[in-house]
Amino acid sequence: MSDTRHTKVLIIGSGPAGYTAGVYAARAMLSPILVQGIEPGGQLTTTTDVENWPGQSSVQGPELMVAMEAHAKAMGTEIISDIITELDLQNRPFTAKGDSGTVYTADAIILATGARAKWLGLPSEDKFKGFGVSACATCDGFFYREKPIVVIGGGNTAVEEALFLTNFGSKVTVVHRRDELRAEKILIDRLMKNPKVEMAWDSVLKEVVGTDMPMGVTGVKIENVKTGAETEITADGVFIAIGHAPASDLVKDQLELHNGGYVKVEPGSTRTSIPGVFAAGDLTDHVYRQAVTSAGMGCMAALDAEHWLAAQDDDITDPVPEMSQE
Ligand code: FAD
Ligand code: NAP
Repeated sequence: MSDTRHTKVLIIGSGPAGYTAGVYAARAMLSPILVQGIEPGGQLTTTTDVENWPGQSSVQGPELMVAMEAHAKAMGTEIISDIITELDLQNRPFTAKGDSGTVYTADAIILATGARAKWLGLPSEDKFKGFGVSACATCDGFFYREKPIVVIGGGNTAVEEALFLTNFGSKVTVVHRRDELRAEKILIDRLMKNPKVEMAWDSVLKEVVGTDMPMGVTGVKIENVKTGAETEITADGVFIAIGHAPASDLVKDQLELHNGGYVKVEPGSTRTSIPGVFAAGDLTDHVYRQAVTSAGMGCMAALDAEHWLAAQDDDITDPVPEMSQE
């Protein structure tokens, strides 16, 4: 039998945006429910040192997220381990179905579903996912002790993953499609000074090479985009670190999106195209995508929800507006 829970504010997502929204909504006496999703704590649980969270010159990502969860809980947010599989924003109260069978109804919703790792889409990448191909160095780096490793990408994630992997691998080759990294200078500096790191500039992954019995990676074929030359690199582990895409599947047919799937909000606010639905963090931000900006937007979303709820009649029955896409 399915259980139905009603709340004034339902927060979907447990990254910095979701937990901060929880802290503020609870302190506004809105008794929020927060549904954590498949990755409790969000993206920061997949990293180690976080050096740009204000007030702490270095903190472990998972530790920071455990502290945020405890904070949201202590303020009065009810935290539920569930995954929202369906969301109806067309009728009020809004309805969200959980994988557990629980149905959540809510007067206001704060979407904080963040972003998930992008893949290149190569058949060989797909074939060896979980068997040598990964998108999470903290999760899988340990398997490649004293083995050669390849990292694909040139942003902060790729550089941090590569640096972290030097703790395990015999050598780490970073394959980047240009001749310049987009990562922060301090990280680039550390990467360039690390004797275990080699760079394959202007190069793209063509194929992950491996064996079927046992299933495992033996190397990669890369192509130099300037010369067309193909090279094979020996590797036991391949880490794809080419960025993240917004997790907007739940709402893609219901809310206005822009910039390739990010939920559109009114400038300077977290208001989406449906009154009563607010969005915060990496789900809505294609520019900054930081823990601290996500937390800031989580705060804004809770304040926006509080003001919106206060301005409504007891019976919230405003029609839901038609959607337009950019
Ligand atoms: P996320 O952290 O992406 O969390 C999304 C949440 O939504 C998750 O809890 C997930 O379970 C939940 N969710 C998704 N779908 C559903 C659903 N259907 N139902 C319920 N819940 C759902 N930023 C920094 O500022 N400093 C750093 O050092 C730093 N290091 C990073 C290292 C790595 C490896 C990565 C990948 C990112 C790093 N970032 C860093 C970026 C930072 O992690 C993100 O900007 C931030 O986590 C975004 O927060 P968020 O709350 O928007 O979403
Ligand atoms: P990102 O900044 O978008 O970088 C993605 C990288 O992958 C870029 O170098 C890009 O190349 C490359 N790339 C993208 N698509 C590719 C493809 N199809 N083939 C080959 N290469 C491809 O993503 P990110 O590094 O995951 O960072 C995401 C956000 O999280 C950023 O805002 C970042 O600042 C933040 N973050 C912060 C920290 C930190 O503060 N320490 C750590 C990690 C992440 P081009 O450069 O050529 O575009």
